[in-house]
Amino acid sequence: MTLAPLAALDPAGQAAILGAQYARLGAEDMLREALLGDLKGRVALVSSFGAESVALLHLVASVDRGTPVVFLDTEMLFPETLDYQARIAQALGLTDMRIVRPSPDDLAGDADGTLHQRDTGACCHLRKVAPLERALTGFDGWITGRKRYQGGQRIALSKFETDEAGRLKLNPLADWGPADVRAYIRRHDLPPHPLTAQDYPSIGCAPCTSPVAPGEDPRAGRWRGEAKTECGIHVADGKIIRGAA
Ligand code: SF4
Repeated sequence: MTLAPLAALDPAGQAAILGAQYARLGAEDMLREALLGDLKGRVALVSSFGAESVALLHLVASVDRGTPVVFLDTEMLFPETLDYQARIAQALGLTDMRIVRPSPDDLAGDADGTLHQRDTGACCHLRKVAPLERALTGFDGWITGRKRYQGGQRIALSKFETDEAGRLKLNPLADWGPADVRAYIRRHDLPPHPLTAQDYPSIGCAPCTSPVAPGEDPRAGRWRGEAKTECGIHVADGKIIRGAA
């Protein structure tokens, strides 16, 4: 991936050019270009170690196990997710695992840990958005596992975006469907998140995630009963969405 000729463009322009240039690349080739090309060492994978995360983690590890991997521990996660993160990181041999937590200053805004009951947007901001912004300082891009089939704001997801800070945002699995994810996990015999066997097809913080009934949208259990569908660390119209979507 050569960014030099694109230097005159703003980040959104770079993302548009790269998006067109790499539209036909499969996920592995796109990651190979990003992680081993001119962006080597300047791109991090941000992973929730959730229900489908192991596929992208395995893909990234197969290209470069030294890729920085950022895991946001909001201190509200299921214990199963914390155990799974440690187990998968070891199994894949990830050598630059970065576990990021809210700072004491962040948590001063939620001293009793109940902010999520009153204002999920504010809670996601202090437990996710602010720590992630710190973690990504110094990187020129980051990789996410978001996919169009997940619906909501993701329907029109591009493989390349930019965030508010001007970093490239790479979504190599944007055009994967659920069957692609399942097939990849099966082909590589990857261990599933333990909660997927308990009707959690999408897994975030424990207070804001519930099981999903057959036929429901896979993300129906996230912030159930609220209009909110994203945690505020994603991009719409070229800007990071802060707070409730
Ligand atoms: Fe807070 Fe819920 Fe957002 Fe987690 S998902 S940061 S608990 S509002």
